[in-house]
Amino acid sequence: MMTIGIMLLSSVFAFMFSNFYYQQKLKPENDAKNTKIALEIATYMESIEPSMIPQYLENIAAIGYQLMWVPHKNKREFFGDPFRDKNLPQVTEEKVLNGEIYHGMLHFPQETFVTGFFANELTNTIGVPIHIAGKNQALFLQPNIKLLFHEMHYLFTWILLLTVILSILFVLLSTKLLIQPIERLTEATKELSEGKFSINLAIERKDEIGKLAQHFTTMAKKLEKLDEMKSEFIENASHDIQTPLATMKGYIKLLQRNNLSCKERKKYLAILKREMKRLSNLTKQLLLLASIDRNDPPTIPQTFNISKQLKEIIFHYQWLLNERSIMVSYTLPEVIYEGNEALLYNVWENLFTNAIKYNKEGGTIDVKILENKKEINVQFQDSGRGLSEEEQQRIFERFYRIDRARSKNVEGTGLGLAIASAIVDLHKGFISIKSDRKKGSTFTVHLPKL
Ligand code: ADP
Repeated sequence: MMTIGIMLLSSVFAFMFSNFYYQQKLKPENDAKNTKIALEIATYMESIEPSMIPQYLENIAAIGYQLMWVPHKNKREFFGDPFRDKNLPQVTEEKVLNGEIYHGMLHFPQETFVTGFFANELTNTIGVPIHIAGKNQALFLQPNIKLLFHEMHYLFTWILLLTVILSILFVLLSTKLLIQPIERLTEATKELSEGKFSINLAIERKDEIGKLAQHFTTMAKKLEKLDEMKSEFIENASHDIQTPLATMKGYIKLLQRNNLSCKERKKYLAILKREMKRLSNLTKQLLLLASIDRNDPPTIPQTFNISKQLKEIIFHYQWLLNERSIMVSYTLPEVIYEGNEALLYNVWENLFTNAIKYNKEGGTIDVKILENKKEINVQFQDSGRGLSEEEQQRIFERFYRIDRARSKNVEGTGLGLAIASAIVDLHKGFISIKSDRKKGSTFTVHLPKL
């Protein structure tokens, strides 16, 4: 509708413009040209035998003119195709007989559009005086537009009509082509909202709609992956909650027996306590992860000392280090950082306890803070088992633990690194890993300076 509207509006403007051009330029030019012709005819008429004049005027009419000859007052003779309107004020005729030139073409009513050019009226002529044998005569003429333009007229009308019809047809066709993929996209959006993620749009275009379809497909794929991840997450979480619960149920049953020794009772209670702690840890981590996912960190950013935090953690785990005979070295210059203190404490704690948990007996750990213009790096280097390329890719996944069966003896949920990376992400940083099967791994937290 809009395109058709624009077409119509442009036609109106084009018509108005050509009319203006006709009024301002073509009309005076046309008048001057025809005046010259009329004067030449008049001069020739004055030079020939008066009896030859009618024949001569017939000839002129035959080559494309409409003429009115006034040999004397009150006598009008017409040559060529008749004028549609023969009204010409008597005064005008008299003025020409008295020697004036009549510019009917130039003064043809202003308000008439370009169609004035085609007006077959006696007023739309040029009138010139003639002197033959001492008598005043007059000649009015107009080119025979019908003769000159008859075929052209039809041709132009057809061209115009065809242009309009074809344009409308093409507009309708192109609109259909434009709307079809949009309809398909609308349908796909509906499908997506109903949970159908495998969408085949079949839109192969290079334009904006093609791009939109491409982004839509990517979005659908991402949503599908997210949906899968959600299900997998729920499955893993339920499984990890179920396992300690089943163990606890079993031990509670054992504790209900009467013939238990004090030693056995103590042992079972210790296991119950351990499983409860595991469950409590897991739920705490799940809650933390949920709050980070919601982008709703539990505390607001504040400035704090990173090296102080790290020293605190190393001190806190001294007993575990002693138990596993692990040596710790550190280089911790004072660094003040603005961020979420509690969350970042969580990151250091996770990386440090991993360096202990996945280290060998009697291994080493080196903790370092490095600072440059753009960022602060906190590095944890261990002498553990190292990580393969594939493991490095996957350890940040939720619930991912390398070799689940073997890591059973090592406390853990598989959520620690997922949480750590989400927290670092929140601070617009990232965690990088360098690992070697023989030497161990280095986890580096890159925090951009604000
Ligand atoms: P977990 O609670 O199991 O420690 P994490 O998310 O912290 O969970 O770690 C995921 C897995 O990555 C661990 O189970 C472990 O197999 C591996 N991992 C993490 N840190 C190290 C490390 N420093 N050296 C070797 N393996 C590691």
